[in-house]
Amino acid sequence: MNFFDFERAQHAVPLHFVIKKLFITSRVFIVLEKHRPRKRFGQNFLKDDRVIDHIVDAVAPEFEDPLVEIGPGKGALTKKILPLVKRLDVVELDRDLIPLLENNCKTLGNLKIYQEDALQFNFQKISKKKHSIRVLGNLPYNISTPLLFHLLEQITLIKEMVFMLQKELVDRLVAKPGNKNYGRLSVMVQYYCEVELLFEVPSSAFSPKPKVESAVVKLVPFEKPPYQAKNKALFDEVVREAFKHRRKTLHNNIKSLLNDTGLIRLSIDPKIRPEQLTVAQYVQITNAINKEK
Ligand code: SAM
Repeated sequence: MNFFDFERAQHAVPLHFVIKKLFITSRVFIVLEKHRPRKRFGQNFLKDDRVIDHIVDAVAPEFEDPLVEIGPGKGALTKKILPLVKRLDVVELDRDLIPLLENNCKTLGNLKIYQEDALQFNFQKISKKKHSIRVLGNLPYNISTPLLFHLLEQITLIKEMVFMLQKELVDRLVAKPGNKNYGRLSVMVQYYCEVELLFEVPSSAFSPKPKVESAVVKLVPFEKPPYQAKNKALFDEVVREAFKHRRKTLHNNIKSLLNDTGLIRLSIDPKIRPEQLTVAQYVQITNAINKEK
């Protein structure tokens, strides 16, 4: 080996290092280029800039407010919001999307990614202060209902929520007594929040296009619910039992909890159907049962 060969050998990068580097780079490259939308994660990515801007306007981020995005995906909404806030926390389950998300957002602001299941997410990690957190998301439609119930469990921490959901679900959220869409979800959500349908979104705004219609809804938790159930777990049980068999009368559904005399005492006709009762009446029933306990 002459002097020059020796010098080159000293500075040469070991082959295994080169191969490893190539492998990592190509893997990131493949992930960045070839992420296939996954049905099981409800991945319908937003591609329409006007719709994205409309949602961001509806969220109206405040610079200092803790803000959490559920399911940021590749960052369609995240990218627009990041420059407007001090910090944005996001919860994304699909780990293959994380490098793509990081890459798309890297120079735009302070992003904290939780690679977690939103159904298990503890919002106390973001803030322990009451009515402080804003939440947004183009939610995975396959888990929207359990996710809304999960959010209701932590509702005292939440200040406002703006979500893209399946239109049919939004119809249930805003439904009033007597409407065919009025059910357990309507009662539980309307007990805790003021609900407003903001606008509908055509399926052409997504890639891939969902087979269902979509809409954006705003939910603002009451600082103090207008009608207060003294026992929340019991309220949950009453509403669950009442809607167990929609076709049956209220009397039939909740007779194990309150008899006809109890209902009549509250001026509630035992023969009406569960979807005819207001949230206030469900609270009345709950508090009457609670008193008897
Ligand atoms: N925000 C992106 C957009 O608008 O283009 C993606 C929205 S896509 C409808 C739903 C996102 O939620 C996907 O990124 C999906 O991976 C994520 N996701 C699905 N299930 C989840 C879960 N249990 N926890 C957190 N994220 C989830």
